[in-house]
Amino acid sequence: MDCPYCQSQQVVKNGRESLSDGTVLQRYRCKGCSKCFNDRTGTPMARLRTPSSVVATALNGRSEGLGVRATGRLFGTSHSTILRWEERLARQANTWSPPAPGEQAVTLEGDEVYTRVGENVPPASSQGWTIHFIERQSRYWVSAIAGHKDELLFQRGTQQAWQWAQACSYIRWFTDGEWRYAKALWDLASVYLVLRNSPSAYRTRKVWRYGLEVAMKVKGSQGLRRIVWVRPEHPYTAVSPLAEVHANHNEAHNAALRRRCSAYRRRQNLYAKTQDGLQRALDVQRIIHNWVRPHWGLGKQTTPTMAIGLYSRPLSTHELLGMRGFPCISS
Ligand SMILES: [Zn+2]
Repeated sequence: MDCPYCQSQQVVKNGRESLSDGTVLQRYRCKGCSKCFNDRTGTPMARLRTPSSVVATALNGRSEGLGVRATGRLFGTSHSTILRWEERLARQANTWSPPAPGEQAVTLEGDEVYTRVGENVPPASSQGWTIHFIERQSRYWVSAIAGHKDELLFQRGTQQAWQWAQACSYIRWFTDGEWRYAKALWDLASVYLVLRNSPSAYRTRKVWRYGLEVAMKVKGSQGLRRIVWVRPEHPYTAVSPLAEVHANHNEAHNAALRRRCSAYRRRQNLYAKTQDGLQRALDVQRIIHNWVRPHWGLGKQTTPTMAIGLYSRPLSTHELLGMRGFPCISS
């Protein structure tokens, strides 16, 4: 076993400790850096005496839409304990969000969902907005960021999604008719193009990066939606047929989110009192969606992570809690 602090293989056994259910954990000491650790060090279960099977079952219940207080009653513990368990996994959300493997075509769909957070304030001043992006074919849940519906939220949501997608050779970027998406993306994904046929050899023009196509669905006066391409695309980028821009899987995802994430289901939102609470619930939901739960539309036993080519099999929540991060594709 390697030291989780310095990766040294020079480790010696150093006593034992037991969990609340009697399971015994071997402790180790590293001869390289003199630090002590056990199998749980560096995982979401570090320094917790609860068996990981209990935490896994609670988080699975939460991800199926069980409220935080109901989960607490079920496990004979307080709701704040459930929230702390959730936070343990949520803290590792970045580790569990590796970028998409490059050299492929992806279709990102961006959308906003709203829930009430804390005080009953009008939606415009609430922190209960979530911007999220889904990759269409794999159903991979690329990003989810909660907060006030302001410029910063669009920037952060767009940035997280772009970082995920940017290695891909062809990117279709479809959002609803909110111009702040396009504005935020323009700062990240536009390039200078030298104009050949212009009188001056040095004339340039800004376009989307090669392979990036950006379109929005704008709601018209009668509730009809029309597609608007956000130009200018790179001259060599092929533009998709209208019908493909129109297809929207994000609405189905929003429905699933409301069903599975109790924060979105309740008018009186009892537990996501803060933006942090909502973000934590979303992070856990997103990890389980991508890594654990096979998606019905993808074929048998296929998780979104497998469909996008990041991993070879579904993980259980129990396994995930015992890991120090994103596993290698070959394992
Ligand atoms: Zn060490």
